[in-house]
Amino acid sequence: MDLADLPPLREALAEHGLMAKKSFGQHFLLDLNITRKIARLAQVGDGDTVIEVGPGPGGLTRALLETGAKVIAVEKDERFRPLLEDVAAASGRLTLVLGDALAVDEAELARGGPAHVVSNLPYNVGTPLLIKWLTGPWTPASLTLMFQKEVADRIAAAPGASAYGRLAVIAQATSHAQLVMDVPARAFTPPPKVDSAVVRLTPRADRPSPERLDAMQKLTAAAFGQRRKMLRASLKALGGEPLIAAAGLDPQARAETVDVAGFLRLADAWLARRTG
Ligand code: SAM
Repeated sequence: MDLADLPPLREALAEHGLMAKKSFGQHFLLDLNITRKIARLAQVGDGDTVIEVGPGPGGLTRALLETGAKVIAVEKDERFRPLLEDVAAASGRLTLVLGDALAVDEAELARGGPAHVVSNLPYNVGTPLLIKWLTGPWTPASLTLMFQKEVADRIAAAPGASAYGRLAVIAQATSHAQLVMDVPARAFTPPPKVDSAVVRLTPRADRPSPERLDAMQKLTAAAFGQRRKMLRASLKALGGEPLIAAAGLDPQARAETVDVAGFLRLADAWLARRTG
């Protein structure tokens, strides 16, 4: 048997008596045109290793396998094991890992080699997973991820936009982030309440050190925690005007107008003052 011999996804779900569970954030993509498009946007193929979070019924998994890539799929809901074992048998290139994606060690899964992450993410753990991949010890080759549209906008937002905040600064300090596809709620089974979008992120070669990232987390929390206030007020406890001047920023500016480079300079100034 090969991939083309697998039953259509709806049939596979019915055969195994499976229904979506809300507690696992399950909204399935059963249209192979959409899953194939996501696999194309991920730019993976023969010889690549892909880590997929939450394969569920395996629609995106099938599209990724069709590219020739090897897929390591991490699924928390054990009910999908038999269905996914059929996909593994048909392709010969799928490894199924049953567990929580927040707890897995990606370096170990990829056996020390490079790996791309592609996922139609469960909404409840999407942001913590993104932060893990962007700031944790393991660096992905690329990330192609489906989020709620509102979260996708917050990742890719430019300074001055209402969606610009902590998530944009951390995502863009660590990666190049681009919104590459809008997906309407009706494309999912069952449809969620809101639309979604796919974001592609490629980690920067000059990713900030853990110390700089820690400093940025503190500074962005304070600055965007009071986003309507001027920096000299919101950053008062962290160094106030001298710190802001050391970073070459205007103390009267508001957080939403400070670009990623500005926050990096603030982080460096904050670290220099602590060690100096
Ligand atoms: N990839 C499938 C698709 O596109 O049709 C399913 C996507 S659905 C939005 C999210 C999937 O992630 C579900 O299969 C769910 O069981 C799984 N999941 C939820 N939380 C998880 C976690 N912490 N670790 C791994 N998988 C998880």
